[in-house]
Amino acid sequence: MTAEAVLQRVHEAGLSIQVRAGNLHVTPKAHLGSDLREALRAGKAEVIDLLRVKAEAALATAAADAGLNLDQIVEAAGADYQEILEDPGVARAFLCAVRDRLGTQAGRRPRSWTKAVLCRSCGPVWLFADSPDVVEGCPWCHLGPEARLAMPRPQVACGNCEHFQPDLLGAGGIGCCALEGHAHLWSSARGEPSSATLSAPPLYPWALRRCGCWSPRVGAATSRTGAAR
Ligand code: SF4
Ligand SMILES: [Zn+2]
Repeated sequence: MTAEAVLQRVHEAGLSIQVRAGNLHVTPKAHLGSDLREALRAGKAEVIDLLRVKAEAALATAAADAGLNLDQIVEAAGADYQEILEDPGVARAFLCAVRDRLGTQAGRRPRSWTKAVLCRSCGPVWLFADSPDVVEGCPWCHLGPEARLAMPRPQVACGNCEHFQPDLLGAGGIGCCALEGHAHLWSSARGEPSSATLSAPPLYPWALRRCGCWSPRVGAATSRTGAAR
């Protein structure tokens, strides 16, 4: 009996079959008849190969649906590839993780990253919905200075940033940023990065901008980072 025929009989019997650590696992085991058990034993190597081929084809399709290719998954998995391939649930989760990681490397926000949080290393960032409000490091931290300038960030307001200096001589309101020459690090609310390296440009405290240097003023809620998209 060919491996394909053995698998066909397994499925017709309503059983599930997986490769785990190089062995075949059938569930529910109690429903495995003696003739099918013998067919699996006799054709074990071929059945394992066929299951791996099918799992890899399914992973390649899922990768293509996610805008990736199988080589990227294989490279990211390294020595764990076969183990990942053996469990469809793990394979799906790994695929999502690779897609998100490559997305952040390319400066794209993964669709499921909907929470604005403060990373103490790289500023206001988008992360997973169940992330804490403040994190010490994040998947965006590895980006270089150019990529950080272009990366999608939640909008913030200077008014509740520790670096904002209100103009005490005027009627209040407009002020400036105490971080000298850092204007190149923020972009307008429309997402246009500033190419200027102005020193202390005038700032309206409640205008929204995307600034990697925003840091909460003492007493200001960190959730302010997520006040606007
Ligand atoms: S660091 Fe950014 S958010 Fe804070 S005052 Fe300066 S420009 Fe505004
Ligand atoms: Zn970070």
